[in-house]
Amino acid sequence: MIISHDLGQLNEDSLHKTSAMETKLGFTKMSVSEFETWLNSLRIARTVLKIQLHHTYRPDYSNFTGSNHFERQQAMKNHHMLNNGWSDIGQHFTIFPDGSLMTGRSLENIPACIYGQNSNSVCIENLGNFDHGGDIMTQAQKDAIVMVTSMLLRKFNLPPNSNTILYHHWFDLSTGQRNHSNRNKKSCPGSNFFGGNKEQDFETNFLPLIVSSLTGSVIKENTAAVVRFACVTATTLNIRIQPDSSASKAPDRDPVTFGTILRIYDEQNGWLKISNSQPHWVSGRFTTPVTRATVTAGSLNIRTGPGTEFFKAGNYTQGEIVFIFEEKNGWARVSLSDRWVSSRYLDTEN
Ligand SMILES: [Zn+2]
Repeated sequence: MIISHDLGQLNEDSLHKTSAMETKLGFTKMSVSEFETWLNSLRIARTVLKIQLHHTYRPDYSNFTGSNHFERQQAMKNHHMLNNGWSDIGQHFTIFPDGSLMTGRSLENIPACIYGQNSNSVCIENLGNFDHGGDIMTQAQKDAIVMVTSMLLRKFNLPPNSNTILYHHWFDLSTGQRNHSNRNKKSCPGSNFFGGNKEQDFETNFLPLIVSSLTGSVIKENTAAVVRFACVTATTLNIRIQPDSSASKAPDRDPVTFGTILRIYDEQNGWLKISNSQPHWVSGRFTTPVTRATVTAGSLNIRTGPGTEFFKAGNYTQGEIVFIFEEKNGWARVSLSDRWVSSRYLDTEN
């Protein structure tokens, strides 16, 4: 059931558009209301902290016929795998000009969408070229983008702000540095995406739409039951229904994958319970403990080693959530690879 009062002042038309869910070529196409039902019943082990928004640029509206969703999605997957050498299509979801949505990469897998920002992200590609002079976004697609983003924030208990919703344009393509410059950036999700691709445009135009569509729903951190966090160090790790390697795999759950941050609710004999409500367990042997922390500095440099003499490799902004893998001489490693920040600007109260 759709709770339409949660959807604020958005165009009701896209809600009542009923296209039956369809699965083909490994992708599932659905309407926004079907997506809400699908998302609510979905169990996901990956800890999600960010929703990324992109435009496809190519294909654009001229490549969309109104009925070739699966062909376009398959063409993007082929391009990502054959030309980019990726293991799968880069994004988790594509939103089409008619307001329909299609699944891509499994949500249990880290996307390939913004350098340095993928670990705890969900990636949405919006089909079209939303640069100035490009496609004029349809109302159906606008509504779908706002509603889908809001539903994901609600699902993952994320407050709406510029740390939880990211535009590709805010990040340097080779360093991952977040800044206001135009150098070495993509225009993505488009210089005319909801009135502009700058952080200021986001605050002025996009964020208020999200805030109003979230009216009535409580967004709060929901980590009270979490005992601790752990990061997956195996390529894939099966989810089982008992803390035992001979137990059956949990039905309808994809294995968790390398780099995923798990929320742990219980531990038994080296096994970790990763769901609060379900008996879903993974072997702790293939995980490493991590500590959740909040960035307290306005801009916190990420370096390639534990000291100011190491190269800068991006930055965090105030309020961002990171996970600490180890600490050394006042420095904290915040990734499976060599990414370090000064511990002084991390708050680990939880
Ligand atoms: Zn992009």
